[in-house]
Amino acid sequence: MGRSSNQNQNPSGVNQQPWEPRRDNIVPEAGHDAYRNRKQPAEPAQCPSCSAVLHNGHWAWMDTVPAGAQKAKCPACVRIEDKYPAGFLTLGGAFFQQHRTEILNLVQNESRAETAEHPLHRLMATEEAGDGVLITTTDIHLPRRIGEAVRHAYHGTFDYHYLEDDTILRASWNR
Ligand SMILES: [Zn+2]
Repeated sequence: MGRSSNQNQNPSGVNQQPWEPRRDNIVPEAGHDAYRNRKQPAEPAQCPSCSAVLHNGHWAWMDTVPAGAQKAKCPACVRIEDKYPAGFLTLGGAFFQQHRTEILNLVQNESRAETAEHPLHRLMATEEAGDGVLITTTDIHLPRRIGEAVRHAYHGTFDYHYLEDDTILRASWNR
């Protein structure tokens, strides 16, 4: 299912209850999440903003929309509309400033690939912050994917931690 990247240990030590099943295994898209815990619309449904389709409990990109699909906003579009990110990633440092364009290209490429695989995982905004940028996302997985890709390509330091019962991820990469 392409979710193996979510099963890494959490070096921050936030998830220390080994008896507690990973929520990723229960909630298909992105773990415990207040937005996702809202009542799902009746199926099938299609988001009028992004065209993702709710089918069999998942929001998916589908070439053919099921007959009788109702209009219902997907959780990612609701977050974007509410300006309520789940993921926060800062990229900064002197090296970042020198290689800003190529690093931000990598950010875009990783985001597009993640969104193609997981419709609810999206880049929200990139804004100036300190000696770098703050990237916000609709989910808690995309900041890790981006940060690990940037570290893989450019080294530097990447850290992250989960907050609010794993509903928020804050991450930073610096070089
Ligand atoms: Zn949508």
